[in-house]
Formats: sequence, C-alpha cells, structure tokens
Amino acid sequence: MYGQEFGHKIIKHFRVAIKELMTKPIKYKPLGAKNIVINKYIVKKDGEKVSKVIKDLDRLHPYVNKLAKMLIERCRENGIEIIITETFRSKKRQQQLYNKGRTTSGKVITNAKPGDSMHNYGLAFDIVPVEKGKLLWNRNDLFKKIGKIGVDLGLTWGGNWRSFKDYPHFEWTGGLTLKDLKRGKMPVEPKEAAEVKLEVSEWAQDALDWVVREGISDGINPKAQVLSQGFWTMLHRYRQKYGK
Ligand SMILES: [Zn+2]
Repeated sequence: MYGQEFGHKIIKHFRVAIKELMTKPIKYKPLGAKNIVINKYIVKKDGEKVSKVIKDLDRLHPYVNKLAKMLIERCRENGIEIIITETFRSKKRQQQLYNKGRTTSGKVITNAKPGDSMHNYGLAFDIVPVEKGKLLWNRNDLFKKIGKIGVDLGLTWGGNWRSFKDYPHFEWTGGLTLKDLKRGKMPVEPKEAAEVKLEVSEWAQDALDWVVREGISDGINPKAQVLSQGFWTMLHRYRQKYGK
C-alpha cells in the first residue's frame, strides 16, 4: 500500500488539487478529508476528477420536489427514515457514470448516456433508508416498502423496472418521454387535487360515493382517464378489503 504507486497517486492527487486551487475561486475541504472537494468537483485520492453529487431538492422540477418531500414524510409516517442521495445530475457526471465499467474501472452501474437519465432533467432522485446514521443499501425489504409508497404518490420506481432494477431511484415525467424531453419539453405541474372540480356524471354519483367511502379511490378528478396501474390498484384494494 505504501509503495511507489501509492506515492504517485498521492502526488497526482495534490497536483490536480493545487492546479484547481490556483485557477479557480475556491470552496474546498482539504485537511482530513478523504477526497478534496473543489467547487463542483471532487479530486479523488488517485487524482481522478469527478463531478460532485447534487443532493439539493431545489434542483428538481417543482412537482418532483413536492413528491420527494411527500415521500420522505410518508416514509416517516411508516417508520422509515430516508435520505436523498442525488437529485439533478449534470450531463458531464452522467458521462462519468456511464464510463464506469466501460472505459474506466469498476462495475457497470448505468445504461443511461448523458441526456438519457431523468436525473439530467431534474425529474428523478435517489434515496436510501437510514437507521441511526447508517445507510441501509442492502435492505431490499425497506426499498420495496418505500417503492410502494412512492408509486402510490404517482412516482415511477426503478425497482419495478425489468431490465435494470434501480431500487434507490424514483422519477416523474408527467407522461413525457425521453424524446419529448430531449426536444426541450418539460412536464407541467398537475393541479392540486383540491383544485380539481368534482364533476361526476349523475349515473356515476352512487358509485363515486361508494368508492370514496370504501377507500377504493379518492374520487378526485372523476373524468380523468384511468391508467392500467390505477385500475389494478382499485381492484387490489377491493380484494384486500373483502378477501377472495
Ligand atoms: Zn437515480
């Protein structure tokens, strides 16, 4: 560990850091820190320069920001503490992540190229459950509970993806596709539930009263289209309530 190679790495570490310090206005933590943090970058021990992870909820789309805060709250109500590990991600950092396991060392961690991740548009965030300050990356049981809470809020959960399960990941695109986003479209924040007027057809009034009373649906926006997942959820709630 204390061989020549280690020495070179340390020298490279400081050389990169010093160069940064001399050329840029600084905000850094050099002493005692594992990595040197300079503005948007982290200079790692081996001299590798990587973009800093952004955890700021204010870097998210306003509605995703709300959903993230609601997720934290709902989880807390269910006895699970979570923290946000990443929100907006620059295309530069996306490229660095994409390179991992391909052109740089380590395992492949993402299939998303720059511009292909909802993080690049401020529409996604990652979380991890915590207990007594310890990050519980391996507690899939907790991730599954959190995933369900997130889906109930209208988020898409990465744990439900087929090809590349991403348990910490949540996103909301308001129905837009990646193609739309690449063209510069951004989703419009949905109206607050309370703002949506209850305009149910007369023939459906009894049914509306019933689904609300039974907790099968919140009865909001009665003329909105039902997505398959919404319909399944209603059937599921009905079955849970009344058994087979
Ligand atoms: Zn993510």
